[in-house]
Amino acid sequence: MRPTRIKTREETMGDQDLPHPETRAVHIAAPPLQGCRPLSVPIYQSSTFAFDDPDAFAEAMSRPDGAFVYSRRGNPTVRALEGAIADLEGGRAALATASGMGAISAVLLSLLSTGDHVIAQRCLYGGTYSLLSELSTRFGIDVTYVSGTDAEEVRAHVRPTTRLLYLETIANPTTRLADLPALLGAGRDAGLVTVVDNSFASPLLCRPIEHGADVVVHSSTKFLAGHSDVTGGVAVFATEDTYRACWKNAVELGATADPFAAWLTIRGLQTLGLRMRRHCDNAAHLARNLAVHPAVKAVHWPGHPDHPDHGLARRLLDGFGGVLAFDLAGGRGAGRTFLSAVRLACLAPSLGGVETLVLHPASTSHRELDTAALQAADIGEGTVRVSVGLEHPDDLWHDFEQALSRI
Ligand SMILES: *Cc1c(COP(=O)(O)O)cnc(C)c1O
Repeated sequence: MRPTRIKTREETMGDQDLPHPETRAVHIAAPPLQGCRPLSVPIYQSSTFAFDDPDAFAEAMSRPDGAFVYSRRGNPTVRALEGAIADLEGGRAALATASGMGAISAVLLSLLSTGDHVIAQRCLYGGTYSLLSELSTRFGIDVTYVSGTDAEEVRAHVRPTTRLLYLETIANPTTRLADLPALLGAGRDAGLVTVVDNSFASPLLCRPIEHGADVVVHSSTKFLAGHSDVTGGVAVFATEDTYRACWKNAVELGATADPFAAWLTIRGLQTLGLRMRRHCDNAAHLARNLAVHPAVKAVHWPGHPDHPDHGLARRLLDGFGGVLAFDLAGGRGAGRTFLSAVRLACLAPSLGGVETLVLHPASTSHRELDTAALQAADIGEGTVRVSVGLEHPDDLWHDFEQALSRI
């Protein structure tokens, strides 16, 4: 059996009759058998593949789209997932990894060398920020941080050694949006490789390759798999050259996804359309109610008319997302009271699962920042982040309301 052929950009993007993403997410092709195909993609739980022909074996070793030979280099279940996400993102090919950080580190270590300069958005996922700091101190890769909202700022920081621009579609926990069309345009004009972390939006809400991104990375642990039961990542590439360069490094680094994790992700991906709609609707319901509650100082959600990027969100996103944050007027103490009082929502890191999760960034995900750094990152002492789940909206608000009443 041959691996799925890598699709051309035209095949994934140019076809006017292409069904909607919700439809494509449901129909994930399994490798064919003789005369039929399994409707559900099977788990190919095999670390290695046996050959009849020594020449075919030798040939299979050289390329990502050669025959399957060893699962660290490629596996049919993993390839089905890669094909599905490449299709949803409008990319040429994808690389599934063991975690989101596996995808991000494989991409950065593949594309960067000592002496290179990176421009990255200031408000980044913590693991990505740590990785960039390490690349800077240990491997001599200089990083400049920018707001992520101003293309002129990116242009002003480009140097002859600048190689890569790194952005996140929706930032955590502020829910600020990167102005992808403007920033990716500035990156392209300067000849930079552009990488966008699209974990918070998912390809149902935003497809950065359509706005000029070269690479899209995901923590599929979050919305793509969506059930808080699997750790995984994926990188999607606009060109085959970038894909091949990153595939080689990912295989060497051992960042590869496990077939069972890939299968769980496929299983989750098929309901992504339904789930994203409910995540967004529930977030809208909570945001509306939180905004008029006396204990709440501010709500941060791109769908809120007062959000600084609301206009951009209307242009960039096909839905305002399932993550919101709100600032309690009572500061850190109020945050603690709220978190101790919720009954339905769970106190947990991560996001994008079926259950509503809440956390207090100042004491958990962003605990290393002092008050000044928190302020610079636009995170208050009383900020609570919510990954809005799929519960009935009335039950969710009922839980939030009773928890707010304790403050
Ligand atoms: C969770 C997350 C990651 C890291 O993904 P893991 O699967 O935990 O390795 C990267 N970026 C964003 C935006 C995330 O939310």
